[in-house]
Amino acid sequence: MEIKTAKFVISNTDVSKCPNPTMPEYAFIGRSNVGKSSLINSMTNIKGLAKISGRPGKTQLINHFLINDNWYLVDLPGYGYAKISKSQREKWQKFIEKYILTRQNLMNVFVLLDSRHKPQQIDMEFMQWLGEHGIPFSMVFTKVDKLNTSEKSKFLPAYKKEMLQIWEEMPPHFVTSSVSNEGTEELLNYIDEVNPYFEYQG
Ligand code: GDP
Repeated sequence: MEIKTAKFVISNTDVSKCPNPTMPEYAFIGRSNVGKSSLINSMTNIKGLAKISGRPGKTQLINHFLINDNWYLVDLPGYGYAKISKSQREKWQKFIEKYILTRQNLMNVFVLLDSRHKPQQIDMEFMQWLGEHGIPFSMVFTKVDKLNTSEKSKFLPAYKKEMLQIWEEMPPHFVTSSVSNEGTEELLNYIDEVNPYFEYQG
């Protein structure tokens, strides 16, 4: 898929204030610093569309972008950073869960995972929660340019082994880098393939 236009639409914490669900939507989520903003910018080829920052926990908002005037890309706030208060975390959990469980046009959640790290409990639990609620998701491994050849051949089988302790099969997964652009075309092609399945429930 070629990205012709990408426009910021709205940021909020309330699913009822999100754009009308007239087009298919794809959400991106992951632990803070996983490389989500970089990946969104590299997929859309627009620097600065999603804000990259070294400060964890900066955005606590559901950010909608309209792509090619026919689908929404949603940048969800990251989870798992230590420095926020319990009440902030609970607030995050509440609106993110509500968004994921009630958003009618949500076709897929892309769960971003840092390819350099071993499976983390918080990610495993989040994916399990998605599975329990029947929410379609894919795994997106980030920052693979940081791995050497040997590490690159090993991280996926290791993750798969861990996933198969819980899951019957490995969910769809993508191996990406925002630096080399590896995997971004595959992500866009996947979205292109899923888009026709969208039906507006008006
Ligand atoms: P976010 O908090 O998940 O949105 O993460 P960011 O996109 O802000 O990235 C966090 C840090 O990782 C920044 O310093 C990025 O430059 C770096 N980063 C993100 N993606 C990649 C990647 O694919 N390769 C490399 N080498 N660094 C990356």
